Amino acid sequence: MRQSSLVVIANRLPLDDSAAPDGACEWRRSPGGLASALHAILEQTPATWVGWAGGVGPAPTLPDIGSLRLRPVSLTEEELRGYYEGFANSTLWPLYHDAVQQPTFDRGWWETYRTVNRRFAEAAAQVAEPGAAVWVQDYHLQLVPAMLRELRPDVLIGFFMHVPFPPPELYMQLPRRVELLRGMLGADLVGFQREQAAHNVAQLAKKLLGAVTTRDTITFDDRTVRTGAFPVSIDVTEMRALATRPDVVSQAKQLRHNLGQPKRVLLSVDRLDWTKGIEHRLTAYSELLRDGYVKVRDTVMVQVAVPSRERVESYRGLRDRIEGEVGRINGEFGRVGEPAIHYLNQPFARSQLAALYQTADVMVVTPLRDGMNLVAKEFVAAREDGSGALVLSEFAGAAAELEQAFLVNPHDVDGLKDTLLRAMEADSSDLTARMTAMRRHIAEHDIIAWARAYLRALDHTGRLADRLPRTAPSARRRPPRQRSAR
Ligand code: UDP
Repeated sequence: MRQSSLVVIANRLPLDDSAAPDGACEWRRSPGGLASALHAILEQTPATWVGWAGGVGPAPTLPDIGSLRLRPVSLTEEELRGYYEGFANSTLWPLYHDAVQQPTFDRGWWETYRTVNRRFAEAAAQVAEPGAAVWVQDYHLQLVPAMLRELRPDVLIGFFMHVPFPPPELYMQLPRRVELLRGMLGADLVGFQREQAAHNVAQLAKKLLGAVTTRDTITFDDRTVRTGAFPVSIDVTEMRALATRPDVVSQAKQLRHNLGQPKRVLLSVDRLDWTKGIEHRLTAYSELLRDGYVKVRDTVMVQVAVPSRERVESYRGLRDRIEGEVGRINGEFGRVGEPAIHYLNQPFARSQLAALYQTADVMVVTPLRDGMNLVAKEFVAAREDGSGALVLSEFAGAAAELEQAFLVNPHDVDGLKDTLLRAMEADSSDLTARMTAMRRHIAEHDIIAWARAYLRALDHTGRLADRLPRTAPSARRRPPRQRSAR
């Protein structure tokens, strides 16, 4: 068994299901924040990635991608239901996103979640060199740190939670709350998107484990776990390069032409998930149309809603509701050849997203709760000329950094309407000042800076952080070929 000194574990491997025509594996750019974030870092760093390859049944044998080795973990159909669709996405996902949607507590799912987490931990234990660093990603694998510590006490274990971590009152609903907390705290360093999440975990550790805590440490069972906020980011260089590519610039112009050269284009890009607040946004927009503040000929809204978790029933219900509402709005306010909302239920390549970001005058990002929201940062990175307005929910992690956005509480429909109007009517010098400040921030806080900060905190010697490229690899080569994602 080949071993690595850096091992990353995430639910999914970052590759396409099908090989390229020449048989080589390609990176899969799925419409999800985690894959986007890690892709930029690991492409040229010697490491092993442990994850599920997609599909059920025995794990395939996979070739390396450059210097990255892939170690697939198999899942059966039943495990896919219990671990992924069940405990991860129907229990933890809603609970961690403020329980806006009721979490389901199913005792059978828990057993499967534990079994699958053990399989991931065992796979990592096999491929980690003595003294290696193992970086576990996200809520799907929250038990892995403690399991891995038992199997391999010699390795350095990091855990990063890409989604929010809820306040103690909510977390306390979870039937297996102690075991799950202990699982995560098996790591040496537990990282979150926002300070508040680290604080929430410390409160819980005090209450449930009798731990002693400081602002950035949790001590229990004679062991100290470090915690901290490490807001994840994007490959800024890649997005800027895409946004200035001549074909992308002309695609953006063409899009505007296809939309009928309106005065204003509003854009939203989301996975079709209830956390993204799409329904609240449609209500606000529909009322602006009804009350005559927005005229269909002048203003066009484009809503990209990428299919997501379609096997989970509540997601199918959400899609039906959204599509019904878009149909109603277009039926009521649209004209022949002039819909009020252009609705696209399909994934887009990154170059197409870059063109869309440039076409928009107002980017509307209004999740009810979101760990970070990379789309907001991508929009800012794509605005090379400093124009454009960003309307951003206070409940997205990105709001802690992009303070110059038009911040809004998406639950407050009247407030949302006012903010949309303010953003649409803001004068260009105000917009440029805001955009310039946001662009400066993300230029300094890109994806490489995130990984460096995390790995340096995990390993103070700097041994891990120094292995990362100085700039994101995409700046030095052609962007990867886009495949469709599910
Ligand atoms: N994305 C994409 N194609 C699409 C829509 C989105 O590649 O059609 C990417 C987008 O560029 C971003 C990621 O998917 O990098 C979404 O991350 P975000 O943090 O906004 O949301 P998540 O899906 O992780 O909740």
